[in-house]
Amino acid sequence: MHAMLWESLRNNQVQCQLCAHKCLLKNGDKGRCGVRLNKNGTLLSLVTNVATSLQLDPVEKKPLYHFLPGSKIFSIGSAGCNFSCKFCQNYAISQIQQHGRIPGKVIEPDELVNLAESKSVRSIAFTYNEPTVFFELMYKTTGLAQTSDIRSVIVSNGHMSQECLQTLARRLHAANIDLKSFRETFYKEYCNGHLQPVLDNLKTLKSLGVWLEVTTLVIPGLNDGDAELRDIAAFIHDELGRETPWHLSAFHGDYQMTDHPATPVARLEDAWRIGRETGLDFVYIGNVRTLLGGDTFCPQCGEVAIERKGYAVSIRGKAGVCPSCKADLPGIWQ
Ligand code: SF4
Repeated sequence: MHAMLWESLRNNQVQCQLCAHKCLLKNGDKGRCGVRLNKNGTLLSLVTNVATSLQLDPVEKKPLYHFLPGSKIFSIGSAGCNFSCKFCQNYAISQIQQHGRIPGKVIEPDELVNLAESKSVRSIAFTYNEPTVFFELMYKTTGLAQTSDIRSVIVSNGHMSQECLQTLARRLHAANIDLKSFRETFYKEYCNGHLQPVLDNLKTLKSLGVWLEVTTLVIPGLNDGDAELRDIAAFIHDELGRETPWHLSAFHGDYQMTDHPATPVARLEDAWRIGRETGLDFVYIGNVRTLLGGDTFCPQCGEVAIERKGYAVSIRGKAGVCPSCKADLPGIWQ
């Protein structure tokens, strides 16, 4: 199927405009993501109707803590990725460049929306592998979902092009974007990507009014130094706003980093304190058992507004309103 967002060049070459890599492809070449192919000077997407995972998840699993809390979200994954993170938890569907086969089954956007409707969900997530690389499937599905009053969410590495983001943003309601590090060397060495496009896209998402939450997978010895964590927290605070939730997620060995130690709970708790000291109102800890970083507190009076134990959610009073001082809490609640 013809791809969107690319340019035709001389001698049957094309340039893909979908993500910040902007791959230049000769006839017969595939992009870094493994799912876009130059065929005789036309760019094709190989995943316009391919799904590898269809699941009903708690929205907290994305993680989104200020978006329809306690609801289920219909979650769709396809294949390929524009990054090749050495610690990828979904490498079987993301790192398909290695074996060249595209896993999954054929399913069309209208069937996806019908499935979501049959499960009575209020939202759909494009997740599991990087949704940018299955843009065409996502774009059509979000359009149909809008007409069915179902909201759309991306869980992304944030390395899409500005053109991609601008095209998609009107159909998007929320995003959880990874800010994996605040060092270009980390992005280059461990992800095969770049930091600056992610920072730019975070700011663009905010300015376009998409509800935004940020996740950092804290990896011992690689991105967990105090200075780097402070840099991330300061960027979120200064550029995205203190009301932007920051999720700190525990690393467990995976893919090419199975021997790397897991994140100690105490380090996540240190990171939580750094986030709060930097002035962020909502800092959360995920993937581990700890008493810290699960609940939502009112920034005005400090009262607990939402309690969480794992994926169990208990909203005190009306969602989005402090049960004590009645201040409005930032997010999408209805
Ligand atoms: S989506 Fe990104 S990685 Fe894939 S072909 Fe386009 S520019 Fe390259």
